[in-house]
Amino acid sequence: MILPELNSISLDITSRCNLQCSFCRNKDVLSNKELERNFIVKILDDAFQYESLKRIHFTGGEPTLHPDFIELCRIVKSREKIALSVSSNGYDLSMNLLHDLADLGIDALSISLNGNEGTQNKLTGRQNSYSRLRQNITTINENSISYGIRTTLTPQNIGQMQSIVEFCE
Ligand code: SF4
Repeated sequence: MILPELNSISLDITSRCNLQCSFCRNKDVLSNKELERNFIVKILDDAFQYESLKRIHFTGGEPTLHPDFIELCRIVKSREKIALSVSSNGYDLSMNLLHDLADLGIDALSISLNGNEGTQNKLTGRQNSYSRLRQNITTINENSISYGIRTTLTPQNIGQMQSIVEFCE
């Protein structure tokens, strides 16, 4: 059987999140539920059948809150030629988690920053989200993990691109 081309898949592995962003597109479905490990493994196994597959992307909610997150990353990285990327809000990335991701060789981590300190804290509903993000970026750098910053434009942060660029510098 000849399979059609499949280059990448993006999986919302959990609906859990530790932030409460006012602009969240998933706000109505955030909960303490997630896809079960075995169901995700089945999807991955099916995807691995495609020789054209180049990337698996985990997102959520906050994907790092899935109880089997590291194991799922390990399954992806056990496959040659398939890149692993993860979107995270960057709020609660422990040193151990980042060490594990670095050891596994995660290919890309996308972190969300949505304005200067006051705006980031306000938009995410957490008074310490900016400082936690800054601290976690330091650990990400110490572990030489390749990462990017993504921003959701809102009326509250549209004038703050310069401060986001300065954060990145
Ligand atoms: S971090 Fe993402 S999933 Fe969580 S509340 Fe914010 S936008 Fe929604």
